[in-house]
Amino acid sequence: MQVRVLGCSGGIGADRHTTSFLLDDWLLLDAGTGTARLTLQEMQPLQHVLLTHSHMDHIAALPLLLDTVFGTRESPLQVHASGAVLQILRQHIFNWRVWPDFSELPDARRPVVRFAEHSPRAAFELGGHRITGVEVNHVVPCCAYIIETDDGVFCFSGDTTTTDDLWAALNRLPRLDLLFVECAFSDREEQLAGVAKHYCPSSLADDLRKLEHDPVIGVSHFKPGSEEETLAQLQDLLPQRKLHALQPDQLYTV
Ligand SMILES: [Zn+2]
Ligand SMILES: [Zn+2]
Repeated sequence: MQVRVLGCSGGIGADRHTTSFLLDDWLLLDAGTGTARLTLQEMQPLQHVLLTHSHMDHIAALPLLLDTVFGTRESPLQVHASGAVLQILRQHIFNWRVWPDFSELPDARRPVVRFAEHSPRAAFELGGHRITGVEVNHVVPCCAYIIETDDGVFCFSGDTTTTDDLWAALNRLPRLDLLFVECAFSDREEQLAGVAKHYCPSSLADDLRKLEHDPVIGVSHFKPGSEEETLAQLQDLLPQRKLHALQPDQLYTV
């Protein structure tokens, strides 16, 4: 599988776009503003969207994506998330006031989108890939995803702070080739990171020391303007780890 970075920043501005990754050409991982970088042609093969949680920086482009592909699709785009996340989206976004409920448009039998609930921890299959959600510790319900194919294993952890279950789940895997993890704040803002339930370099380093695999680690979600400071702190704390600061349009092959 190939993973393309569409957006990996904690904010916007010029080349900064929020969380969204494209797996091969058919699976979108989160739908932050990075999704808006896809061309119309690149939107056509999309089959599935996997959402970690309901925060705006991870769903901002989803309503507009559905509107953009409306009328061009033979089958619905399937949006997968936990029941808690889907309930928030239905209640607060696709409620006909903020945006139409596209799961009923153009009609409920052949809608442009289907919302598909998955239970955390129960593995399911998409396009021959085995997907397992792991609930992680954030201020709203949030899932990390482990994506396994015959070629290798990729974990996208979304937004989170320390979650021992995730590291235990990863250590149970026979291999882990690629891990995308956030580090939203620098250690200068450690207290804010704690309140917002995000990582900062010291808490992420503490957790990565629990990981028994040695994957390529793509770090995302840096607060705009603090990218270099946060990355330098991480590199100081984790000199042995294969840390990459994710950048738009980077490709990772697993
Ligand atoms: Zn969040
Ligand atoms: Zn976020």
